[in-house]
Amino acid sequence: MTTPLLFAGIEAGGTKFNCVIGKPGGDIVHQQQFSTAQPSETLPLIQSYFLQQSQKYGPISALGIGSFGPVQLDKHAPDYGAILDTPKPGWQGLNWLAYWSKALPIPVALQTDVNAALIAEHSQGTGMGLRHLVYVTVGTGIGAGVMVNGEILQGASHPELGHVAVKRRSDDTFAGVCPFHQDCLEGLASGPALTQRWMMPAQQLPAMHPAWDLQAYYLAQMCVNITLCYGPERIILGGGVAAQGQLLPLIRQKFVQQINGYCRKDIIQAVDTYIQRSSLGGNAGQIGSLLLAEAAFLQRS
Ligand code: ADP
Ligand code: ZN
Repeated sequence: MTTPLLFAGIEAGGTKFNCVIGKPGGDIVHQQQFSTAQPSETLPLIQSYFLQQSQKYGPISALGIGSFGPVQLDKHAPDYGAILDTPKPGWQGLNWLAYWSKALPIPVALQTDVNAALIAEHSQGTGMGLRHLVYVTVGTGIGAGVMVNGEILQGASHPELGHVAVKRRSDDTFAGVCPFHQDCLEGLASGPALTQRWMMPAQQLPAMHPAWDLQAYYLAQMCVNITLCYGPERIILGGGVAAQGQLLPLIRQKFVQQINGYCRKDIIQAVDTYIQRSSLGGNAGQIGSLLLAEAAFLQRS
């Protein structure tokens, strides 16, 4: 009898790491969370977790990582695989590929956390069967992954849609939470922006609160910018803030107003299909990391 293939995945976030063991197709067998402390603390814990799991379930054939950014994904760059300029203590300069290739003798694949989620949504979620997609997470930060013709868009750096400037609503005097920009999307519409602006945790804001109309105003601008820049077939929204059910109809409505007809007709006719919520929810990044591992394994063998 042949042993079934087993893969490992890491969804590396700013506050926690979601680690998974799974089968081909992104089928999660076991998962565990670790908090994001210093790398010297967090990474050995994850390594022991993988070793324990492999004793239980069998050998692990490859590892996939979806990492917080910015991360160097240009294969031709000398620091390919490294975490770039991050305020997280100890993580700047850490090279994911170098670290794990030394720690575990298996193929390792790396993407951004949002690209991992995009890969999962494309394979088995809201983006199934499509070739041109944008996935946006609206949570602690705002980040996006772009797929064009089935390929992840990657230039000399990965897209940083969260920091694109947006037009302020005329009555909005909030300073914003981005340390780099006054009027960027993340500064005005991330989870921490909601919490600071309205002085209560974003998840506690009632559905009828004016916060959501303003939030939709900014996220609709984001969808307009995405449409004009990338021309996707669908925009998928994930992350904690996007879980607010009342937000989506408001975003669609404001998107139609703001784009004012300057797009393909089918987008307006089927805006409910065009802008949708992630169907894999909190698991998208982990499923994506397993799919990345599987692809790395298939490429090597
Ligand atoms: P992370 O981005 O850290 O991986 P989340 O996507 O859950 O995790 O984002 C956390 C941020 O989103 C926090 O600022 C939190 O206040 C906000 N948030 C989480 N869940 C919700 C919710 N259901 N409604 C509104 N805001 C939420
Ligand atoms: Zn910014």
